[in-house]
Amino acid sequence: MPWIGKGLVFALLLPLGACNSASEDLTDGFGQRIANADAEPENWLSYGRDYQETRDSPLSQINDSNVAEMGLAWYYELDTNRGQEATPIVVDGVIYSTSAWSKVQAFDGETGKLLWQFDPEVPGEAAAKSCCDVVNRGVAYWDGRLLLGTLDGRLIAIDAKTGKEIWSVMTVDPDSRNTITGAPRVAKGKVFIGNGGAEQGARGFISAYDVETGDRLWRFYTVPRKPGTSDGEISDVPLRDMALKTWAGQWWKRENGQGGGTVWDSIVYDPETDLLFVGVGNASLWNRKLRSAGKGDNLFVSSILALNPDTGKYVWHYQQVPGDEWDYTATQQITLVTIPIDGKARKVLMQAPKNGFFYVLDRDTGKLLSAKPFATVNWASHIDMKTGRPAIVPEARWSETGKPFFSLPSGSGAHSWHPMAYSRKTKLVYIPVQDMGSGWAPDPDFKYMPVGANVGIDPMAAKLPEGPGVLKEIRKTIKAYLLAWDPVAQREVWRAPNPGTPPGGVLSTAGNLVFQGNIAGDLTAYDARDGKRLWRITTGTPIVAPPVTWSKGGVQYVTVVAGWGGSTPLILGPLALDDKGDVRPTRSRVLTFKLGGKASLPESQRQERDKAPLPKPFGDERMVKRGEWIYHRTCLVCHGMNAISASAVPDLRHSPVADNPDAWKAVVIDGILTDNGMVSFAENYSLEDVEAIRAYVVAQANRAGSSR
Ligand code: CA
Repeated sequence: MPWIGKGLVFALLLPLGACNSASEDLTDGFGQRIANADAEPENWLSYGRDYQETRDSPLSQINDSNVAEMGLAWYYELDTNRGQEATPIVVDGVIYSTSAWSKVQAFDGETGKLLWQFDPEVPGEAAAKSCCDVVNRGVAYWDGRLLLGTLDGRLIAIDAKTGKEIWSVMTVDPDSRNTITGAPRVAKGKVFIGNGGAEQGARGFISAYDVETGDRLWRFYTVPRKPGTSDGEISDVPLRDMALKTWAGQWWKRENGQGGGTVWDSIVYDPETDLLFVGVGNASLWNRKLRSAGKGDNLFVSSILALNPDTGKYVWHYQQVPGDEWDYTATQQITLVTIPIDGKARKVLMQAPKNGFFYVLDRDTGKLLSAKPFATVNWASHIDMKTGRPAIVPEARWSETGKPFFSLPSGSGAHSWHPMAYSRKTKLVYIPVQDMGSGWAPDPDFKYMPVGANVGIDPMAAKLPEGPGVLKEIRKTIKAYLLAWDPVAQREVWRAPNPGTPPGGVLSTAGNLVFQGNIAGDLTAYDARDGKRLWRITTGTPIVAPPVTWSKGGVQYVTVVAGWGGSTPLILGPLALDDKGDVRPTRSRVLTFKLGGKASLPESQRQERDKAPLPKPFGDERMVKRGEWIYHRTCLVCHGMNAISASAVPDLRHSPVADNPDAWKAVVIDGILTDNGMVSFAENYSLEDVEAIRAYVVAQANRAGSSR
């Protein structure tokens, strides 16, 4: 459903050529270097390498004929095994990367020597506002300075030479549930930053700041506030005129979710159209009946917005999922290309969002040009090309039917933040796909909880079944693969299975190569033309972040930040275990490879955890059941479904704290581990509730083979 702002309709009526043409330079200052990224292939200057966010490098020293000779040049041990998702920036041989808790490191790219580290000292409480671990996806670089978004919502400018702070501004209301995990983007002397938190009741927005001073220039909210009130921001008019009538009930109240629509990942500046494209996230609460009285499209959730980068003024939008209730965000990578559509070269943007359809939109107008499923999809039969709307199947509306619905893709998406790449050589998009589903049913007795997530689903409906061998069977049904997709014909060209969920981020190069990590710890190079595996190294640690490539002194390097990250190893712990049902060994490391690299990694240790003495079961069946419900209402977000954790967050079944009621109370009620991110849940739960959770966790610990 494309909307076009009045100004743009007028612009389109002008004769062709009067509009901004590709030859007219709309970038200024350092932006010209990002806009001409191919002129300096030795650098990786911005998040997606270029403003088009292709993640496609012109370097070809490492190529299909010699990649088999690639080896490790160096590695660096990071100080934590929490989630790692960063895209490193590389400028003149210096690597600027980020790690868990929004820390930044600068390395000498040739030797791996740490030049400096910056720790913004994120308070532990911020972790409890985050849906998906304390991750960070990277910094932006602008003319000798780095821009960092921190989990607790600050935007910080750092001197790239010294690692010292230049300025710092708070971009969110500290009392809100908004957190930053995404990388800022820079263009025209402005930094653009959004935030996440839709599962926590956040209201989404994107802001622009002056890169020199940190002064705020504009802010655009993605969902309306209480009718009759306004923010005094540039979004007031489109929210009043377009969005307000698509909402019902009292969505603006914190207990109803405040709308969601967070801008947590993709923000792309287009020097050709001088537009800023913004990916908007899912609705909050997930349950549309509780959120919006079961009615309305709920603009601008699950939409791509086009804004004027100088003012934030609305230009057009395209909503992918009207009235979203499947956590289907439109925040995934937006890639800009010019491709032939009906025989004419069209400036388009492409996106493979969570909902499983691959979208191609006209960049000037937001008009839908094509949309086809790239994974198994059952929530909609197709996208109506006349209206641009999905044909949503009636049974998918679980809050309306009141009946459970198993959606494909799952709420984790057929493709999430894990970057894809577009090869200018093969003209194919390489998408890290996960084909899996998830269950939805309304919470019949929903009550807002002040701490942690609020989504309005029956916590037991989404839960994985249990029993010896059951999880192993479910893990077998999850298909993860690297998909080569033709965006013009909208069809699959090849796929290469790369096991585990989530699949790793992707890099393509002019050396006919596509690189991708996986959760088994492999980094693999594929032939970009046919998906043939040409090289693989087992690093002993899961890799979900995307590799980058760069060069110095005539030598090409590939760098990746290895480590676990995101919602999957936390919430979906049972699905992220290995085939034996064991936790995957994880060492967070920065890894750099080159042809003839001879460095080696230390042997990885299998994590033995089943040897701890079992805690003593207690409580009757009713108490354990109650504990199971509460656990899946709140605790699973970090500690994992069925009390099974697959990451650095403790598996409570094997925690000595679970065997000690006083220690348990000290953690869950008194909040003694707040600095680690485990805050007090006293506002949510009574001591009796908390003991019920413990009874459930202890029962799970004693359930032989439950994680197998
Ligand atoms: Ca979400």
